[in-house]
Amino acid sequence: MFELFKIGFLTVNFTDLIDIIIVSFIIYELYRLLKGTIAAQIFIGLMIVLVLSFISQAANFRALSWLLKLVTDIWVVAFLILFQPEIRRLLVFLASNPIFRIFVKQESREAAAIITEAAFEMAQQQHGALIILNRTTGIRSFTETGELINARLSKDLLRTIFFPRSPLHDGAVVVSGNIIEAARCTLPLSATTIVNGETLGMRHRAGLGISELADVISIIVSEETGSVSIAENGKMLKELSKDALKNKLTRAIKTPNTKGLKRIVDALYK
Ligand code: ATP
Ligand code: MG
Repeated sequence: MFELFKIGFLTVNFTDLIDIIIVSFIIYELYRLLKGTIAAQIFIGLMIVLVLSFISQAANFRALSWLLKLVTDIWVVAFLILFQPEIRRLLVFLASNPIFRIFVKQESREAAAIITEAAFEMAQQQHGALIILNRTTGIRSFTETGELINARLSKDLLRTIFFPRSPLHDGAVVVSGNIIEAARCTLPLSATTIVNGETLGMRHRAGLGISELADVISIIVSEETGSVSIAENGKMLKELSKDALKNKLTRAIKTPNTKGLKRIVDALYK
């Protein structure tokens, strides 16, 4: 590539310039995401070691390079372990850009329609239900408190599970994509006990609680009132109409939840 300019013995060409811009952009975006958290400090520490190691290699300090390389190797592994959930979310976030999203569209519309239909049929019969639609984070520690199901999502299966005399009707169902992963799961209760002046029961608090901790959308069908509510990012919306629920769910499945990502990173490293 053609030369742009020279700094001392360094020649900078067009490719280098693009290279530098891309790396700067990645580092800046990562920093912006983590800003104000302990993760940011760890990230800066890692950057310092990387820069030192680069300098010592350029200056040909062999022993120091060896030492720093050792530290970087360990640090990279430690970073991967410490930030495993965030890295996974980041990859999912990247994969959910519009180009790839075309492939999940059909599936999301189906899941949203199935859950909406089931919720409103159950509401009409005043069968209580709690459905957790899992988005990007793993919530395995909660899924494992219940019975593993791993079956294709269907309206009748949801209704069967929540049928009041079914052995599985208590607790929450966890849905990922178009799979019912588990039923009868126990979820963490939210500390919030009142929304819109009304006292929340356990089912509603459990639905709200998990939405504070993970990137999920909870659908709560009240046994007492036959109303349908949802909780997302620690906020509860009560008494949704059928169309409102369907739209909410379709959108929730399709678009990545960056607000939730930032909020969860903040909560974890405050
Ligand atoms: P509803 O409007 O349907 O009465 P509610 O919010 O008033 O709901 P409760 O009446 O306390 O809640 O509902 C109790 C049901 O909530 C239990 O039978 C159980 O299925 C579910 N539940 C209670 N605690 C949890 C929990 N920690 N995780 C998941 N589900 C729970
Ligand atoms: Mg109740």
